[in-house]
Amino acid sequence: MNLSLITPVYNEQENLPFLFEAIYAVMNSLNHSWEVILVDDGSRDHSLSVLQEYAQKDPQHIRVISFRRNFGQTAAIAAGLDYAQGEIIILLDADMQNDPADIPMMLAKLDEGYDLVSGWRKSRKDNAITRNFPSMIANWLISRVTGVHLHDYGCTLKVYRRDVLEGFRLYGEMHRFIPVYASSVGAKITEVQVNHSPRKFGKTKYGLERTVKVVLDLFTVKFLVAFSSKPIYLFGGTGGLLMSVGAAMMFYLLVRRLFFLVSVTGSPLFQVSAMFFTLGFQSLLMGLIAELLVRTYHESQRKPTYTVRSMINLDQDPRD
Ligand code: UDP
Ligand code: MG
Repeated sequence: MNLSLITPVYNEQENLPFLFEAIYAVMNSLNHSWEVILVDDGSRDHSLSVLQEYAQKDPQHIRVISFRRNFGQTAAIAAGLDYAQGEIIILLDADMQNDPADIPMMLAKLDEGYDLVSGWRKSRKDNAITRNFPSMIANWLISRVTGVHLHDYGCTLKVYRRDVLEGFRLYGEMHRFIPVYASSVGAKITEVQVNHSPRKFGKTKYGLERTVKVVLDLFTVKFLVAFSSKPIYLFGGTGGLLMSVGAAMMFYLLVRRLFFLVSVTGSPLFQVSAMFFTLGFQSLLMGLIAELLVRTYHESQRKPTYTVRSMINLDQDPRD
């Protein structure tokens, strides 16, 4: 299997016929074997029966996973990834806001030697105030914090080489952070402009609250990418800093006591310095607990702390 297209579907019954039409047009024009995995995320309209119809007609290409209830777009994408067999994974929304006709161009870009080609909806057709503006800020923030510079993390239409997705678990709203993770395992990433249209049928499932979730997820992702194999660096560093501030205050109090005879306990600075010191020490100890957790995490899954691009004269799995 060459290409796996993964599409999350939640209440998109009117869009599906157009989606299938567009997918067939593109996929039949390419010289690849392909499958499309549609994940019905607990739709309450007739999406599932529409999907079933298409799957029955074309079992060779169409696969459907149906959730018991609505678990969210990220979970739907995760399920698709679990079952995808292609070497190349393409994520696509079901609502036809993305244009499947962009796929060949993105595949060509991938062939230039990239591991991930990210779509960029340069002229995005969504609500300016609740969606486009917050997302501009979010994209800027994510780029700054993670050092992976993309204009449009939120665009679902992206093309991935399968091996850069291996080992990554998706939680919350995290599918948009796949490029950050991919970059941390050494993927070569680029972006291309893609078409975007307003929604014709159904309505968007998201509003302003999504940006809040994205920013919170950013904390987790940054922590996982930067410190997941060495949490003591973060906790110990913070702890050391707090303890140093506390120690400096105490030193100042001591000097005042010795040379200027000012009482130590009379000043609120004494409590403050003790607080800093305690917090710092706590943080250091939390770091040690986190180190224990990391060992459990990596060793229980036998997850290596590195990723290999290729090997020469070696092919067995080190675990066997
Ligand atoms: N979606 C989903 N589960 C949800 C919400 C959305 O599977 O809980 C799907 C939806 O059917 C669509 C894609 O995720 O295919 C993107 O959703 P939407 O178009 O509402 O987001 P927007 O384009 O407004 O960001
Ligand atoms: Mg949409």
